[in-house]
Formats: sequence, structure tokens, C-alpha cells
Amino acid sequence: MNSVAHNLQLVRNRIETAQKKFGREQEPITLVAASKKQSVAKIQEAMEAGLWTFGENYVQEGIAKIHALSSAALEWHFIGTIQSNKCVPIAEHFAWVHSLSSAVIAERLNNARENNAVPLNVCIQVNLENSPHKAGIPTHEVLKLAELILTLPRLRLRGLMTLPEPSPTLETQRKPFRQLARLLLDLQHAGMAVDTLSMGMSNDLEAAIAEGATIVRVGTAIFGERL
Ligand SMILES: *Cc1c(COP(=O)(O)O)cnc(C)c1O
Repeated sequence: MNSVAHNLQLVRNRIETAQKKFGREQEPITLVAASKKQSVAKIQEAMEAGLWTFGENYVQEGIAKIHALSSAALEWHFIGTIQSNKCVPIAEHFAWVHSLSSAVIAERLNNARENNAVPLNVCIQVNLENSPHKAGIPTHEVLKLAELILTLPRLRLRGLMTLPEPSPTLETQRKPFRQLARLLLDLQHAGMAVDTLSMGMSNDLEAAIAEGATIVRVGTAIFGERL
């Protein structure tokens, strides 16, 4: 077994163990492999081990990989910072965007998404600490942006994403994830059909699963260190 296949098995075991521990065996959790700065060869190893959802952060790098692997039926998620001049290639090449954090970007993605493609699945990235140095919108702006996205026919609002500061213990890791889960509930209580909590990475996926993650985005634990 190659190292990617082996690592992938370990990650799947961690997910399954956390699902059991936190009473979530019946709920599907999607593993998105964060493949930024990883080679096409490593992505192919993950494919051979049964993975078909990949997340990329950089538009050019991501599209090069999408083209290189176009013969496989893979699902590509954009998880990086979105520059407004990159909305067209993102809307054309990706099935999901996890990092939506402004009305302008939402409108541009909507305008760029082709009419004959299925709507682009989007999550709003939330900056839970309201830190000026972090990506995402502050918590008090989430409802307003969600309402706007619902008016855009080429986007399908799926839920929320966050990327908290690294934190040492399960308990401290759980706190921001619990906050994101509450924000999703607020949207559901406002009548929105949102179902996705994109949260948890190599170091904190157990905490995210404990708080209701439906997608975990895992890079180094699958592929090893980035190039
Ligand atoms: C790189 C990245 C990940 C994966 O991080 P790891 O610590 O390598 O698992 C997840 N989400 C986003 C947005 C990333 O940029």
C-alpha cells in the first residue's frame, strides 16, 4: 500500500471513530481532500484508494489539476481566498465554493455560472473571531449574505464554513465549531434549507465531527507535507 492510501485509511478510521464516539454513525460525513501544493501523482494515489472529492485553494493550480485529471469523474471544491477577478474560472471549473464571503463575489459567481450547469454549491465562510486579519465575514453579517445568495439562481446555498485558529485541546477546538453549528441553526430557523457545516482539518477533525461537521477538509494527514 502506498503512503497516501495508508494515510487515507488512518483518516477514515479517525472519522469513523469520532462518528461512533459522538453518536453520529448514521450521518454521512464527506471527506474533501485538501490537495493544494500536492502533486497530481499523489491525487491519483488518493483516487485509486477511492477518494473522489478534492479541494483546491489556488485557481491556476487547481484548474491545471482539473484538466490533468479530467478523464476521472472527480468533484472539485474551491476552498481558498477568492479574488474578484477569478470568479469566472472558479464558476466554470468547480462544483463547490466553501469560501464565499462577500455579496460582490456572490453576484459575480452567479453571473459567471453557466445556465446549463447545475447551480454552484456555496458555503459562507465565517470569521468567528471577527478578526481583521482573517478571511470570512463576521457572524452578524451571515444572515444578510445568506438572504442575498438565496436570490441568485445560479448559486445553491449549502451552509457555512470556518477555519479557526489552531487550538491545543479537544475542548478548546470544539468551541468555534459549536458557534458555527449554532449559526447554521439560525439560518434553518429562518426557513433556509441549508445542510452543510464545512469544518475540521487534519488537526481538529474530531472536534468538528463532535459539533456536527458534514464536510471535513483534510490535507496533510492524507498527503503529507505540502511542496
Ligand atoms: C489547507 C487547507 C485545509 C487542510 O489543512 P490540513 O491542516 O493540511 O489538513 C483545509 N481547509 C482549507 C481552507 C485549507 O486551506
